[in-house]
Amino acid sequence: MRLTCVIVGITLLASCDNVTEKTRNTLVIEGKTMGTFYRVSLAGVDNRREAALRQQIEAQLAEDDHQLSTYKEDSVLSQFNQYQGNVPQPISAGMADAIVTSLRIGQKTSGAMDITVGPLVNLWGFGPKKQPIKTPSDAQIDAARGEIGLQHLKVIQQGDGQYLQKDLPGMYVDLSTVGEGYATDHLARLIESNGISNYLVSVGGAVVSRGDNAKGKPWQVAIQKPTDKETAVQAIVDLQGMGISTSGSYSNYYELDGKRLSHIIDPATGHPITHKLVSATVIAPTALEADGWDTGLMVLGTKKAMALAEKEHLAVYLITKKGDSFEVHMTPQFKAYLKAPE
Ligand code: FAD
Repeated sequence: MRLTCVIVGITLLASCDNVTEKTRNTLVIEGKTMGTFYRVSLAGVDNRREAALRQQIEAQLAEDDHQLSTYKEDSVLSQFNQYQGNVPQPISAGMADAIVTSLRIGQKTSGAMDITVGPLVNLWGFGPKKQPIKTPSDAQIDAARGEIGLQHLKVIQQGDGQYLQKDLPGMYVDLSTVGEGYATDHLARLIESNGISNYLVSVGGAVVSRGDNAKGKPWQVAIQKPTDKETAVQAIVDLQGMGISTSGSYSNYYELDGKRLSHIIDPATGHPITHKLVSATVIAPTALEADGWDTGLMVLGTKKAMALAEKEHLAVYLITKKGDSFEVHMTPQFKAYLKAPE
């Protein structure tokens, strides 16, 4: 198999093309966004369209960043987080959609996926705030836990507008877990609106593809082996027009007081997860949906995640660490997308 695998930022998916086909007839536009990387591969599109497309892509990513970032103090989301009252605040239809989807997945995962987890994310140093120099105390964790909870956040449709309301003044909404999926779907729609129907787009670990690559074959996406040292391919899927996202506990972490801390926080304990599930990949009709589920499943751990995936008929691929090797669990829905290496 001759593949060039482009690691999408620090995340876990790689988009793979045959080397010759990529150089032959695929326009690739890539760059940095949202603390990670974006990549748009367009089959059969003339290079002369690059400047105009890049300008549209980067303008749209900048707008999504302005809506959803907790890393920019003047973003729409940061302004909502800074606001201490309970009067509904206007938000865009896109942001409302991302939050409604997140709240629904949050409920289905019994709060394992919780976009109000921001105070805990910040306390453990995985948001825009600095990493702590010592392990947060129980009192700090309890105080942060007192400021979270899906039931305290509401999206309200009023007239022809959407509004976001909180009933806890200290609430801090963190959309980092769905922002990449949201932006990926947005890019896919932008590409479609330019009359292009053979593409593969990704932002961080969220990917959407449609149609075929320049060789006339389905785009292939590789799930990386869960290790921070290798870029080895664990499995390859053909997305068939769907969205995919991977969440993992091994690529975004740091060590504190001799312990390795993952950026995925269990809202029930207030601590980073410690179990052996190291990677969760979900294929869903949109990248937003896939990106919402993967983090929730990571929090739940292998057994509960598999039970929920089966109940919800999700296409899910889990990698669990077992001693020095890895064990894979997947639903039949995921199996349908798996490809044998060429
Ligand atoms: P995922 O598993 O998809 O999400 C994990 C993240 O979700 C955690 O890092 C945490 O923020 C949050 N989280 C943790 N536990 C839970 C839980 N139980 N439920 C819900 N959410 C949880 N990073 C920068 O360094 N600089 C930037 O300028 C920057 N800008 C960004 C702008 C936007 C709009 C977004 C969406 C992200 C930005 N990021 C930035 C963050 C970044 O790139 C993240 O690392 C990324 O979004 C997390 O995605 P992931 O695929 O690594 O992990």
